[in-house]
Amino acid sequence: DIKAHAVQGGTQPLKNVKNIIAVASGKGGVGKSTTSVNLALALQQEGAQVGLLDADIYGPSIPTMLGVHQKPETKDGKSMEPLSAYGLQLMSIGFLINPDDPMIWRGPIVTSTLTQLLNETNWQSLDYLIIDLPPGTGDVQLTLSQQIPVTGSVIVTTPQEVALIDARKGLRMFEKVNIPVLGVVENMSTHVCSQCGHEEAIFGENGGQKLADQFKVPFLGALPLDSQIRAQSDLGAPTVAAMPTSGAAQKYHDIAHQV
Ligand code: ADP
Repeated sequence: DIKAHAVQGGTQPLKNVKNIIAVASGKGGVGKSTTSVNLALALQQEGAQVGLLDADIYGPSIPTMLGVHQKPETKDGKSMEPLSAYGLQLMSIGFLINPDDPMIWRGPIVTSTLTQLLNETNWQSLDYLIIDLPPGTGDVQLTLSQQIPVTGSVIVTTPQEVALIDARKGLRMFEKVNIPVLGVVENMSTHVCSQCGHEEAIFGENGGQKLADQFKVPFLGALPLDSQIRAQSDLGAPTVAAMPTSGAAQKYHDIAHQV
């Protein structure tokens, strides 16, 4: 139970937030945002109050994945009201910038922007704040671990060695900054042919399980490479919201039960 090790590592608790879960990956493109969004929705469907913070400063995907493109309102000229979709409270750097502008900021600007998103969003009594991190082990991860008590992290990887190498670095980073790793999610683990039903391990087998074993952390589950998951994300209606009784949605619920 992650509530048992809440308030660890960081300094200032976030107002109105009970548990903070960071979703991380070594490489980009492995499905970290897809996992963040569907995990948040699964927790929300279980009855929790859930917020989702898109901290992927260089490539915010939450606005597209949840179909939200407004600018947040400010109450007192400073703090921002989270936007909402499917019952989730949302904040993303993507709400504040022109989506076609490249993010070419230097470290200190990244750090201050994240600090602002964290501290100046008026979250309303959240049981969970899910934070979608940028890939890798950079400024955002360090800032988070220094500024807020992250309850735990979820590592998303695909099964092939090039992704696992970077995922290991991510796991070691969380160990160093004393953020508990709640477990590993293996994404795109097999592909099921929509024509013939043949199942193929395109990116190799059991990489996520082996990674979890190596670091003695739980293996939280595996998601197939499924064109519907991709299509639903692109449409702004993620799988857990669009097809709540599907096999894939069930897998996200299984992950939610373990965090
Ligand atoms: P990351 O956050 O790691 O960069 P994303 O979650 O943005 O990765 O996913 C990258 C792309 O892969 C997106 O187009 C997404 O819809 C797609 N995708 C993610 N997971 C799956 C999956 N299990 N099956 C099919 N497509 C997926």
